[in-house]
Amino acid sequence: MGFTLRTLLLTASATRVFASCAHGTFLQPRAEEGGAVKVATFGYTGTIGPLNWAALEAPANSACATGTRQSPIDMVDSVFTILNGADVQLTVNDMPDGADFENLGTTVEVITQGGTLTVADKTFELQQFHFHLPSEHLDNGTSQAMEMHMVFQSAAQEIAVIGVYIGIADAAAAPAAAAPAAAGKRSTSRIARRQEATPPPPPAAVATRATTLLETIFSTVDQISVPGTKVKTPPLVMSEVVDLLKANAFQIYSGSLTTPPCSEGVNWHVSTARLAVAPATFVKARDVIGFNSRFPQNTPGQPNILMLSALGSAAAAVMAAAAPAAAPAA
Ligand SMILES: [Zn+2]
Repeated sequence: MGFTLRTLLLTASATRVFASCAHGTFLQPRAEEGGAVKVATFGYTGTIGPLNWAALEAPANSACATGTRQSPIDMVDSVFTILNGADVQLTVNDMPDGADFENLGTTVEVITQGGTLTVADKTFELQQFHFHLPSEHLDNGTSQAMEMHMVFQSAAQEIAVIGVYIGIADAAAAPAAAAPAAAGKRSTSRIARRQEATPPPPPAAVATRATTLLETIFSTVDQISVPGTKVKTPPLVMSEVVDLLKANAFQIYSGSLTTPPCSEGVNWHVSTARLAVAPATFVKARDVIGFNSRFPQNTPGQPNILMLSALGSAAAAVMAAAAPAAAPAA
């Protein structure tokens, strides 16, 4: 970390600025226009990582270590209920002049320009969407390449988040891929031979295409490689993703922010739809985002893993102190 960035982080710390999944909501109001992009004070490794978030800002972050409905979680059948995409009203405004795309140090975030989610007569306003790498939720035990979080807030200051897994598109199916189709071209590599011997995939498993919205957004990500910087994206058309979300279902559960202060009561909607980015786009995004995924939390309603861990550590220390000293090695 260079001196300038260190200074920036210290400055941000002095003004007690966070940049979490709740950025732009009542929990973390966005800086006034014209202000610099504020860089987060928490991180994902070492002493500023998720094992220590509660201690970074006590008691504000205490839910991170004591909450019993924390996110993310492993999305297995028993922890969520299904809500059909057709049963929610979702609109997200296009951004014909592009959108501000910011590097908050802990994520890269698109500042949206209006949108609503209405579920069971409750309406939430879209604040922003941002990305985690790898995915924070696990899809029945499996981590995905990335996860997009669309953060909404109601007039009553309730938060709803739509989470969408992002996979890696097949290179040949990427919209930008101008390379000729590989069909008929024989390869002698071991992997290619194995693939040729594999039966054709079922009809549903067609080549995964890169999502145009994501390709458009991430085309500029290398311009915000430094935390605290922002760029204007090309025009963004949201219907591609909105239509996909509505045509699929949501796995819903009540959880928390996945970043400090880990507030609970968050209405999670994890989509069964999948987005995708081209392999080269994934690498480009990874080189900027690095790693920003909180570890999977305990099943909702069960004790916080950090509480269990603290109890276990204390018990181990007591037992170690009580045990007779080991005989010195010969
Ligand atoms: Zn998030």
